[in-house]
Amino acid sequence: MIPNPGSILPGLMQPAPLQIIDILRFAATAHGSVEVVSRLVEEPIARSTYADELKRVERAASALVRLGAKAGDRIASLAWNTHRHFELFYAVTGLGAVLNTVNPRLFDEQIVFILNHAEPEILLFDKTFLPLVERLAPQMKTVKTFVMLTDGTVHVPGEVGALCYETLLAAETDGFAWPVTDENAGAFLCYTSGTTGDPKGVLYSHRAVVLHAMASGLNSAFGFTAFDVVMPCSSLFHATAWGLPFAAPINGCKLVLPCEKMDGASLQELIVSEGVTFSGGVPTIWTMYLEHLERTGQTPGGLKRLVIGGSAVPRAMAERFKTQHGVQVLQIWGMTETTPLGVIATPTPALAALGEEAIDEAIWTRQGRLQFGIELRVVDEAGNDVPRDGESSGALLVRGPWTIRRYFRAPADAVNDEGWFDTGDIATLDQFGFMRITDRKKDVIKSGGEWISSIDLENIAVAYPGVKIAAVVGIAHPKWEERPLLVLELYPEAKVAAADVLSHMAAHIAKWQLPDEIVFDTVPLTATGKIDKKTLRIRYADRYG
Ligand code: ADP
Repeated sequence: MIPNPGSILPGLMQPAPLQIIDILRFAATAHGSVEVVSRLVEEPIARSTYADELKRVERAASALVRLGAKAGDRIASLAWNTHRHFELFYAVTGLGAVLNTVNPRLFDEQIVFILNHAEPEILLFDKTFLPLVERLAPQMKTVKTFVMLTDGTVHVPGEVGALCYETLLAAETDGFAWPVTDENAGAFLCYTSGTTGDPKGVLYSHRAVVLHAMASGLNSAFGFTAFDVVMPCSSLFHATAWGLPFAAPINGCKLVLPCEKMDGASLQELIVSEGVTFSGGVPTIWTMYLEHLERTGQTPGGLKRLVIGGSAVPRAMAERFKTQHGVQVLQIWGMTETTPLGVIATPTPALAALGEEAIDEAIWTRQGRLQFGIELRVVDEAGNDVPRDGESSGALLVRGPWTIRRYFRAPADAVNDEGWFDTGDIATLDQFGFMRITDRKKDVIKSGGEWISSIDLENIAVAYPGVKIAAVVGIAHPKWEERPLLVLELYPEAKVAAADVLSHMAAHIAKWQLPDEIVFDTVPLTATGKIDKKTLRIRYADRYG
């Protein structure tokens, strides 16, 4: 895949491998007193520091080795955003094993599929998941040891005879002889949710994770300083919470972990009491948070930046955050296959020269701009690059040191001969290097031979007052092939007339793109918090014939 340039003169610098554990070792030394604060299941908030965390990670690694863990093994977790899960991120990978973070919101069959595909012998889980673990344990072919991420006060072994995490740590001593691990060794095994077909395993290497963590803190991306207080609200079980458990310690940022409590009031409590300056997650979480602020009249403390992605950011929400609360929303695009950060929308001088409105427009309606470390191409059906005019769309291809090469246990590479990975997204690129997703390939609507972007329609509809979530899906139509159907979920007590939403939309789009009708319904979400279009398409499949 990579051409051999012939004979080279070897460099004479140290070939020190990029290792994940070195991030925490660095933070413990350089930012040892910086806090890690964590909500827990059924336990009070835990407070520690990076120095404490390194000691706990050493003990966790010793305990795992005592339970039989060794380099190359997969070790699974079913856990929320807590400091114990954070510790596994370092302990498991530090000893040379692979942490298989399983998304507990998947269907039972998918969880069983993933565990039997990854083949872990040890499964560590939060107490919340005891019923799930008990129910599925008989189908887990390889798991022999269960560990509950609890302390002795709330621990119950359950039918699986789970060991207690804190008891295991207490039995060990500080210190662990970290092995030197090849930087290309696997470190995390994250499965895509498998909305089509079985989940697919993406095996991040140490090298990919460390490079990604270094790049994501840059000013052109998250822009971290040691004054930041970072609260990841993307899940640790979903593509390592955008690598925030690494980027925060690299930059000496205080880390706040909200467990599973992502409702507006719970987030507000931590944002204010812990001085959170930076957070991120899928749009639905921040829609709820904004609604909480508006309902209670509260202000978002010292929160300065919100990075939102996973699905398209509603422009109206980003605008309200800025104008009413002084919070800068930056959009991010990525996928499990890109560790997961692909691009992020941050301002540039070229945009600034056009004025503040141009900056807002770009960072709220584009998914991001080209970043070093991930190359982007948008190609037409013949594989040729489309013009960078912000209008011409095509398949989005990516390539780089934290982009997937092959799925775990797949017989062939997932990239073409030149290393390009087809993301399955349809996008445009503009002259400023900003990329805009118009749709996922499978969600594109084809009506009367023309393409309609579901994301564009959703963005316009969700700006209408009272609308909480807007989802647009293509429904088979006898005359037009497909027509867009708009499904709206409203805020409680909101009164919205379909005709008013349609006339609001008509001002922004061509008439033929306008949905023929609107249905008011609850919008189903996937296990990763995206609009579940597959379920909506099935629900309304026969609507037009
Ligand atoms: P899953 O399908 O399991 O949820 P991912 O989290 O890897 O897996 O999903 C990645 C996909 O999410 C991308 O390919 C893209 O379609 C969508 N996505 C991510 N960020 C954005 C964004 N900012 N705007 C629109 N779509 C996005």
